[in-house]
Amino acid sequence: MALSARSQASSRIREFQLIRALKERYGTTHSSIVRGIGDDAAVIASGQDRRHLLTTDLLAEGIHFDLRTAAFGDIGFRAATANLSDIAAMGGTPKHLLVSLAMPRDATGRQVKQLYDGMMAACRPHRVRLIGGDTSASRGGWFINITLVGSPSSSRILFRSGARPGDHLYVTGTLGDSRAGLELLQRPRGTADAPQSLTPGHRRFLIQRHLRPTARIREGRWLSMIPWATSAIDISDGLSGDIRHLCAESRVGALIELSALPISSACREYASATKRDAVTMALAGGEDYELLFTVPARQRIRFERASAQHRVQVTRIGTITAARDGLRLALPNGRQRPLPVSSYEHFRPNR
Ligand code: ADP
Ligand code: MG
Repeated sequence: MALSARSQASSRIREFQLIRALKERYGTTHSSIVRGIGDDAAVIASGQDRRHLLTTDLLAEGIHFDLRTAAFGDIGFRAATANLSDIAAMGGTPKHLLVSLAMPRDATGRQVKQLYDGMMAACRPHRVRLIGGDTSASRGGWFINITLVGSPSSSRILFRSGARPGDHLYVTGTLGDSRAGLELLQRPRGTADAPQSLTPGHRRFLIQRHLRPTARIREGRWLSMIPWATSAIDISDGLSGDIRHLCAESRVGALIELSALPISSACREYASATKRDAVTMALAGGEDYELLFTVPARQRIRFERASAQHRVQVTRIGTITAARDGLRLALPNGRQRPLPVSSYEHFRPNR
């Protein structure tokens, strides 16, 4: 990654302010728009009961990927996953794909083929079909834009806006792996700051989680089909950033229990090998593409039983609170503190 985590985080904050301004100035309401700017995907209505999910994502070389640490196949796979994950967060099924490319002059046909092979590898399990795109030259590196069209599952759509105080907060899978994998790619074996004591299997797992993340399509669809989930978002920027969006759209606060965060044994081993805090990595590390969602407290037992039955791995990580309580962390020692706003380096939950 060319940008540091710190400058990346501050540029994301500027982005959110810009998106809010664009929404206020240009966002409109219309009977054809079920959901416009502000969720993981837009929802449009065509006819009485047909709805479509639409999402788009732009990856820029030097900002979202670095050709020194990622191969074209991996970049394609991650680009597709970012979009698939937004459809998963709405509880939908991805269907059709449009891909636009801007390429530097020295780009080769082989690179483009590898990029598409990677995209298609992510899409194939979901039978997503390529239906178009656009191609251009670029004077400033590679740009890859994917638009994905999906269908809601027949029952309902999950929005960021449905969380209510008292709901339990859950997350699928484990958090922080992708960040650890990225760091491993940036510090290859043999370099001075490469972690010495890391099991080869754990190293492979973490790198794979970064280069070939899984969009939680099956889990999202399941959440939309059970009657209990009240809201959902995918974790693309990191839990600490994405919980903010879910809470803003739902007009609620949240209390995250640090000791409850699901962290893989590989990520724990990486953190201890690099003298870092695994919880910080789980909170602030981005690109996990897990789902963060809410379930009313009274449904907790029924929900957890059903998720085990359907083999959907979920972990309860906290509670939704009133908006006035803001976003807070419950520390293992019983104290609470506000969730830090700032970038990755500013997280020190044990301080
Ligand atoms: P995600 O991380 O889930 O992809 P984003 O943070 O990229 O979500 O976008 C949040 C919302 O803002 C989405 O509804 C998206 O469609 C909208 N959005 C982002 N950029 C723009 C833009 N330049 N113009 C209009 N809407 C935008
Ligand atoms: Mg999203």
